[in-house]
Amino acid sequence: MTAEIVSVGTEILLGQIVDTNAQQIGQLLPQFGIGHFWRQTVGDNLDRLTEALRLALSRSDIVFTIGGLGPTQDDLTRDGIARALDDELIHDPEIEAHLRDLFRHRPEAWVGSQLRQAMRPRCSTPLPNPNGTAPGLICEKGGKTVIALPGPKGEFGPMLEGPVRDYLARRTQGGAIASRVLRVCGIGEAAIEDRIRHLIDGSNPTVAPYAKIGEVHLRVTAFAASREEAERMLEPVAREIREAFGPAVYAEGSQTLEEVVLDLLRGRRATLAVAESCTGGGLGHRITAVPGSSDAFVGGLVTYSNEAKARLLGVPESVLSEHGAVSSQCAEAMAAGAARALSADYAVSITGIAGPAGGTEEKPVGTVWIGSYGPGGARSARFLFRNSRQGVRERAVQQALILLRERLLEG
Ligand code: ATP
Ligand code: MG
Repeated sequence: MTAEIVSVGTEILLGQIVDTNAQQIGQLLPQFGIGHFWRQTVGDNLDRLTEALRLALSRSDIVFTIGGLGPTQDDLTRDGIARALDDELIHDPEIEAHLRDLFRHRPEAWVGSQLRQAMRPRCSTPLPNPNGTAPGLICEKGGKTVIALPGPKGEFGPMLEGPVRDYLARRTQGGAIASRVLRVCGIGEAAIEDRIRHLIDGSNPTVAPYAKIGEVHLRVTAFAASREEAERMLEPVAREIREAFGPAVYAEGSQTLEEVVLDLLRGRRATLAVAESCTGGGLGHRITAVPGSSDAFVGGLVTYSNEAKARLLGVPESVLSEHGAVSSQCAEAMAAGAARALSADYAVSITGIAGPAGGTEEKPVGTVWIGSYGPGGARSARFLFRNSRQGVRERAVQQALILLRERLLEG
């Protein structure tokens, strides 16, 4: 089953309001395994609205409309739906009675145009609107469904979460969904999408990539008659993703990269220290945010100046004068120095130019050296992050965790 949204309102086209209602529908549909491939926005114009609805009905089973159900001349959704479904508008005395009753308790006077809201396509069933005047409508004709919802948030939200959710549950025979998240690090979003395009294009299970800083989360969602069956459908897709990306899949579910790294350290009964320059403690912050990190994490040194790098980490003056603080030699000396100073088995260091100033042609802003120390000595790798200052710092911390994990996986 597929659904499509037609948001109605010139305000949306003009950028005066943001279509948060469509966003809410978008989040609801996958919970019922309903495919969602198209979305349209159209102004308050009857011809264009009708055209948009006809197009939507030609390719989707369920069409949602948002807005345009009010009493005024520019509220045209009812008319558009009737035209697109080749149906007629009828007057519903029950809706009128309800409207008149509402107005008895309201300060504003009843005006004749309110009656527009008592009109509905013949094939429709009204959805009660306890928070406003216009009822929603579920219109079913010729195997197609149009669900019309009011625009104002306080009316739209309760109607979507109440009667519409119930309706979708009935339509999908109370099926169940299951989903699983696979976390991938060290491979860019575009490369990931490229490798598993056929899975991303699939409709059940669906695979949705979410790009984070230096990692991508792949949410696999399946819809089936029972939860157990949906769970079963997830496994082959998860397996295919694991096979495609190998060890770059660092976790499933909610486990974070820092948690995985800490688990690896614990498994080796090894300890960790960090030495940070441009990240100012960001790496230590992420590691110590994990409860129980003291099992493996000894501590960190934030050495921002050259003097601090020399005095606290023992980075040789000659390294700083010949190669500078942002260099392979300095990163390795920092990592080795941190391991020594804090008696740790492993250490990671970060030194770079976060910007916005301070870059040179040889070492542009975003240049970061990450060092690591462990059995087998010190190593380093150079990165160039093209981000804002904060972005460079976050990417550097992430990359340090990725490198540390790789090093721990070596044995
Ligand atoms: P009314 O009875 O108030 O006229 P309506 O169903 O006709 O309601 P619209 O006139 O299209 O709806 O929009 C009324 C208000 O609802 C807008 O000014 C806006 O605040 C909100 N709204 C409309 N559409 C959306 C949307 N897609 N997302 C978020 N808010 C919306
Ligand atoms: Mg309106």
